[in-house]
Amino acid sequence: MSATTEFDTIAAIATPPGEGGISIIRVSGEDAIGIVNHLYKGKNLDQVDSHTINYGHILDVETKSVVDEVMVSVMRAPKTYTKEDVVEVNCHGGLVATNEILQLILSQGARMAEPGEFTKRAFLNGRLDLSQAEAVMDLIRAKTDRSMKVALNQLDGSLSRLIKNLRQDILEVLAQVEVNIDYPEYDDVETLTTNLLKEKATEVRQSIDQLLKTAKQGKVLRDGLATAIVGRPNVGKSSLLNHLLHEDKAIVTDVAGTTRDVIEEFVNVRGVPLKLVDTAGIRDTDDKVEKIGVERSRQAINTADLIMVVINASEPLIEEDKELLRLTADKKRLVILNKTDLPRQVSDEDLAEWAQPEDIIGTSVLTNSGLDQLEERIADMFFNEGIESNQNNVMVTNARHIGLLKQAENALDDVLHGIEAGMPVDLVQIDMTRCWSYLGEITGDSYQDELLDQLFSQFCVGK
Ligand code: GDP
Ligand code: ZN
Repeated sequence: MSATTEFDTIAAIATPPGEGGISIIRVSGEDAIGIVNHLYKGKNLDQVDSHTINYGHILDVETKSVVDEVMVSVMRAPKTYTKEDVVEVNCHGGLVATNEILQLILSQGARMAEPGEFTKRAFLNGRLDLSQAEAVMDLIRAKTDRSMKVALNQLDGSLSRLIKNLRQDILEVLAQVEVNIDYPEYDDVETLTTNLLKEKATEVRQSIDQLLKTAKQGKVLRDGLATAIVGRPNVGKSSLLNHLLHEDKAIVTDVAGTTRDVIEEFVNVRGVPLKLVDTAGIRDTDDKVEKIGVERSRQAINTADLIMVVINASEPLIEEDKELLRLTADKKRLVILNKTDLPRQVSDEDLAEWAQPEDIIGTSVLTNSGLDQLEERIADMFFNEGIESNQNNVMVTNARHIGLLKQAENALDDVLHGIEAGMPVDLVQIDMTRCWSYLGEITGDSYQDELLDQLFSQFCVGK
């Protein structure tokens, strides 16, 4: 990667589209300050200190009329997001004024930025490595505080550091192997070299394994845990859903990367983002729609990562309850024994044949009892192994990273199998080198142009 800047000046609206309190137009590149200065009435921006915010007006170059009252941040290279000169124009929101200012900036020679281009420059100018650039994207999408923390950590470079250390280790071994091959006059050099390779391959494989273990929880943090609430009519599904959705915990988002009109409901349960599936059937309290039956539940059960089977504790178990318990027996499941405020008809013994005691939770949504335990149990299921105790708090959350780690792991398996099969050292060496380059693709130390284009185009314009 070269650190030379031979880029043109780019501009884009950096705030989300629509009406807002303020909008920000971001300009980056050699001419950023000059271009905005030309449109700006106030202090001479060429002469203000770096990293200052300046009050003034943007004027239409031709008519000299005021377009908007603005605050302009001037940040000179290299201590900026892109490592280039960056100017941010804070204007009064409103689509018209914001667009007009952007058009004026473009008319002065800036080019409209492509999606993710600011971050791409940060990467190309050596400010971020690839995994950090991806973390920026994750951060934009982060749905709960906890996923925010993971993304921030990655931005901080903890994953990169770990990967870089692994690569360094591999490189040292490869260098040693090279030396051994070049000076084969020493005794036992063959055995020495294979032992060295074997030891290192095993060691690196363990580290990668550790990282991959975090991936599962990581995916949950990013994408939400697909959760289905099932149960026969009237057991309290809607009430439970509403309880989960209220208390200011509901996050309704449109998921980036999917069609605009796909709206999914997220609730944040003690840091676990639950993505509720098939809530439509539950939300309709209309009796006709409530007759969803087992068939529809079956679909929800198949797609969900976690299932809550709601049972009415005040009525004896009927076949429909049992059917749902059977269908979910092999899944990650909680059995919610609701309406415990009423006289009990279902005992824990009755359920013993259907579920593990720790997976049965008695609740009353009406009197608000047992719901804390329910939430605690959900958080427990996902945070107790791995995430919190993970020493470095490094988590892999990104599908591309996970894929590359798996490939690196396969390459290491080839190394180990090769040694076992008595393959010549120089062939084993090739697999070790492959592992090294896969890891390098994570941090962008080895990268391809297509990969970059594909990656950065996922960003919104202005990021
Ligand atoms: P759904 O058909 O499974 O969605 O059940 P609903 O949430 O619509 O609840 C059915 C009825 O049971 C409603 O009248 C609720 O107010 C009531 N209900 C829900 N939870 C409880 C509970 O814990 N205790 C009692 N006594 N009634 C409840
Ligand atoms: Zn309902």
